[in-house]
Amino acid sequence: MLRDIIIDKELFNNIRKKALESEEEENSPKEVELLEKAVFKRLKKKRSVKKYRKLGVTKEDLKEIIELADILSLDALGGPSNYEIAREHQEWCTICGRCCRESESIFIHKDELNLLLTFNPDLKKGIIPNKLFPEHFELKNIQPCKYIDPETNKCGIYNSRPQVCRSYPLVLIESGGKARNIINMRHNCNYSVNLILEKSIILFDDAIRRLEEKNRSFNKSRNRAECC
Ligand code: SF4
Ligand code: SF4
Repeated sequence: MLRDIIIDKELFNNIRKKALESEEEENSPKEVELLEKAVFKRLKKKRSVKKYRKLGVTKEDLKEIIELADILSLDALGGPSNYEIAREHQEWCTICGRCCRESESIFIHKDELNLLLTFNPDLKKGIIPNKLFPEHFELKNIQPCKYIDPETNKCGIYNSRPQVCRSYPLVLIESGGKARNIINMRHNCNYSVNLILEKSIILFDDAIRRLEEKNRSFNKSRNRAECC
């Protein structure tokens, strides 16, 4: 019900279908499910269903809002983009190092190669062409990435690290001819979980504000009708 206040059901279903098609290679359904569960746990602590029960808010609403936060970039509704939220909250990264240990590939676009090598010529030995995407190179021998410090989880080539490492947990994808930053859904990445949580809170608060406004104007017109 809360989600329907923010977005028309049919429109949501269309966006969902498209998002699933374009993101299916990036985010596995199992990971999305686990991440949504992790966000749900945190959202329940931040926004109590009990407080809004009189307005008809249920746990299901929280789940629907989280699903909307997963697939919708808030700039489509006039809010902050995924990139803006992530940039403002770098403290959400706990430097656990999972992304550097578990990533299956670290892409380097041909346009950033020269710059990377200028600042770190040693990197040349560790870069190979990407067979599937001719515009890209990639780091060789990752999982774990050999540049991660096993003690501190810090990156050994931090200042010259590839763009994909800088923007993680956001991943740039091409969809419908446009570049979009989607969130790499990893339930054990605190950064990803908090990003979805923040988006869910923004959507939840907006839906409650609209619901309260709707109730107020309904009550006003009812009182007017009773007076006359
Ligand atoms: S981005 Fe996520 S997985 Fe990577 S170090 Fe930070 S919290 Fe860990
Ligand atoms: S290059 Fe650095 S940031 Fe990128 S995966 Fe390796 S250790 Fe992590």
